[in-house]
Amino acid sequence: MLAERIDALLPQTQCRRCGFDGCRPYAEALARGESALNRCPPGGRDVIARLAALLGRPVLPLDPDCGHEGPQLVALIDEEACIGCARCLNDCPTDAIVGARKRMHTVIALDCSGCELCLPLCPVDCIDMVEAPAAPERDTHPAHYRRLYDSRRTRLARGQAEWRDALRASLAQDGAPAD
Ligand code: SF4
Ligand code: SF4
Ligand code: SF4
Repeated sequence: MLAERIDALLPQTQCRRCGFDGCRPYAEALARGESALNRCPPGGRDVIARLAALLGRPVLPLDPDCGHEGPQLVALIDEEACIGCARCLNDCPTDAIVGARKRMHTVIALDCSGCELCLPLCPVDCIDMVEAPAAPERDTHPAHYRRLYDSRRTRLARGQAEWRDALRASLAQDGAPAD
């Protein structure tokens, strides 16, 4: 399937800078011919060239409205300043932040895709983006991020199914229809 082959070329940071809700929706739009191939800043020129070759379309410069190409970054939490509100956990696509409510939070650097989605969520502005430490495993990161992202989606879907089951049970107890 074309969308899968396109998705395999994307960096999987799930940063949404392309204007889609993650790499897979962007890949699907590209497969349908509904989006330009120059909208992925984390992939930059290299990914644009690969997409152009796969899709038989001309190479374009990166669309500056989507952002700019740069080094791989990771989030770093100032643990002294963190108030433990847990808001940053809500949107981390790779579940790279660990912590509990009212406890200090920290980022697992190898799991952080550098998407920056946690930055606007922090009420005390204690998350910075810093250059990622060089790691021999970095080439395997797209696959690693995709695995983490998929397992997060599975976990959230399971949570939602459990919530719906509980709601159905409680509505059934009250004699009301569930939907
Ligand atoms: S890495 Fe970000 S910009 Fe690139 S396709 Fe994935 S979500 Fe879109
Ligand atoms: S820690 Fe922040 S920058 Fe890193 S993956 Fe999670 S949301 Fe993105
Ligand atoms: S959003 Fe900021 S203050 Fe709240 S837990 Fe995360 S890093 Fe700490």
